[in-house]
Amino acid sequence: MATLLVHHAIFASHQTSAGHPERPDRYRTVEAALGRPRFDALVRDEAEIAELDTTRYVHTNAYVDSLEAARPHEGYVYLDGGDTMMEPSTWEVVLRGVGGTVQAVDSVLAGTVQNAFVACRPPGHHAETDRAMGFCLFNNISIGARHAQLKHGLSRVAIVDFDVHHGNGTQEIFYSDPSVLYASTHQMPWFPGTGEARETGVGNVFNTPLAAGDGGDQLREAFEGRILPALNGFSPELIIVSAGFDAHERDPLGSLCMTADDFAWVTRELMAAAERHCEGRLVSVLEGGYDLQGLRESVSAHVAELMRG
Ligand SMILES: [Zn+2]
Repeated sequence: MATLLVHHAIFASHQTSAGHPERPDRYRTVEAALGRPRFDALVRDEAEIAELDTTRYVHTNAYVDSLEAARPHEGYVYLDGGDTMMEPSTWEVVLRGVGGTVQAVDSVLAGTVQNAFVACRPPGHHAETDRAMGFCLFNNISIGARHAQLKHGLSRVAIVDFDVHHGNGTQEIFYSDPSVLYASTHQMPWFPGTGEARETGVGNVFNTPLAAGDGGDQLREAFEGRILPALNGFSPELIIVSAGFDAHERDPLGSLCMTADDFAWVTRELMAAAERHCEGRLVSVLEGGYDLQGLRESVSAHVAELMRG
């Protein structure tokens, strides 16, 4: 069965301030990489605009309404110091990020495709129930997990996050919810400061912090020693991946030393877990990745593995 790519040209909008690492060229790089002939077999869908109520699966009404009210007609509105901002195109961009994620979940659960990659920006895993943070406005991945439960009746959804930063928002949203497993590798100490191994939620959170300088060997230890066994114990009905590629050795926003081959390895392991537990059903959503060469190589390796599924 095929792999779905959910994308949309508007993800090259959402301008950010000069020198900001989370910039439109990130999307153009991903789109160019996945436009090459080796990716011709991808099924391609344009990301739809989510209903605003879909964002309320995980965010408070007060937060969603305040974001909607904050939309600028020109210039920037800053939500989180200088890190996270909105400009006039941002609202449609983030609603298509949510819509694209939900669409990918729908397609994978309908069985029309085996798995899916959502190429969107900005990322989402730092957005908390009622707070924008770290470039993120809506927590795409969490909304996708909740959508799978509310609209498709799934009981157990696993979220695996290999972005160099801990997904504080995703953890916060599901911290007392045993129906969603959250497992993360990330650099510590590092932004956002959460993600200690002792933060375990209700036994559903599996943080596996890595140290600056760690690379593929430590990634393998983290997955083989802790995260893959946790997935086996949980037996998810769907695996959703917070696919951040800023743990790449070239990335300016982290000090881990992963290569594209390491991302290919972790992709294969997650696909094998999905095969064991849920007929291979896996949805991957782009999070970070700020060095364009590192991003191009890593996304290519990740999606090429998905297509081998
Ligand atoms: Zn990140």
